[in-house]
Amino acid sequence: MNDLQKRTWAEISLENLRHNYEAIRKSLPAGCRFLGVVKADAYGHGALPVSRLLQEAGADYLAVSCLDEALELRRGGITMPILILGHTPYAYTGTLIEENITQTVTCLAKALEYSTEAVRLGKELKIHIKLDTGMSRLGFLCAGGYFEEGVDNVIRSCRLPGLIPEGVYTHFAVSDEPGEDSEVYTRAQFKLFMDVIAAVKSRGGVEFLIRHCANSGATVSYPEMALDMVRPGLLLYGYGDSTGKLGLLPCMRLVTTVSTIKFYEPGTSVSYGRRFTTQRRTRMGVLAVGYADGLPRLISNKCSFAAKGGFAPQRGSICMDMCMVDLTELPQVDVGSEVELFGPVNSIYKLSDAAHTIPYELLCAVSKRVPRVYE
Ligand SMILES: *Cc1c(COP(=O)(O)O)cnc(C)c1O
Repeated sequence: MNDLQKRTWAEISLENLRHNYEAIRKSLPAGCRFLGVVKADAYGHGALPVSRLLQEAGADYLAVSCLDEALELRRGGITMPILILGHTPYAYTGTLIEENITQTVTCLAKALEYSTEAVRLGKELKIHIKLDTGMSRLGFLCAGGYFEEGVDNVIRSCRLPGLIPEGVYTHFAVSDEPGEDSEVYTRAQFKLFMDVIAAVKSRGGVEFLIRHCANSGATVSYPEMALDMVRPGLLLYGYGDSTGKLGLLPCMRLVTTVSTIKFYEPGTSVSYGRRFTTQRRTRMGVLAVGYADGLPRLISNKCSFAAKGGFAPQRGSICMDMCMVDLTELPQVDVGSEVELFGPVNSIYKLSDAAHTIPYELLCAVSKRVPRVYE
């Protein structure tokens, strides 16, 4: 990047990404496929560069949330299989087929729509059936009293003309959370998943080539649930409680620069709303980053960032394009100095905890104004 333009940027380490991919791969049972989740612009890391690396490194599948995300990958030269996890209106069945994109089917009604459209076009659409085993989001209902109906509907969907049922999957609600309750719940979801698959096979003769359920949490904590493919997102980017177990490395470092530095006398109020007042003579820096870049305003006055020689406490309300930090204890930090907002030194968890959220949200929030710099 042109040094003169340095304002705020996200350094993305493709080397760390490759390392993470290989480390996760190595932990999998032989023959297990790897699907990299690259929805939401690869969790802010850039869907195309991440997908290109995964394609080249030998991953088997990619997943995105919607058709636009899938088409971005196809237009960028990604040829490997892509699964859409969310809904696509049936009117786009032709596009899905032409672009060789696999569509999730979440209920009989949608299976019928896709089937009708595919038959009308005289073509076939590759699908993965999604079962709702306890996330209570998308998927065929199959828990408790819905079991029989769920199994029937899956069989009926798979037998429809114009559809190629390649895979079946489910999604865990608490596989990344500690505690016995979470473990019991995850194991119950897995059992229901396997029970439906077995019933669909014995009653309908339908077998799936790819059964998958392991998100990041399950990929690490429940290796016995890897089945035919794992489906990690966050883990691939080097975040999550269990990255230590596999020696994974964070791939994003969000960096900004000091625009100006001024000294204020004690009793000077800082930023909108006057929510911070200096208690001492203060050397205050203005950082070229604000909530329009993805820094949550909620963490105003509640966080610190890594500067040369130490952590600089953030002071006053975070503005749209700027925020202030106390540099009194860090005289070595000067105008133009780089400040790490999150990365290897300033853990993203410090910020996500302060914002009462999860790292996922902070990664996705890094806005399009922030250039991604690949190294
Ligand atoms: C987002 C998503 C994933 C990846 O979740 P991580 O927690 O990031 O591993 C996997 N499967 C589905 C269906 C998802 O929506």
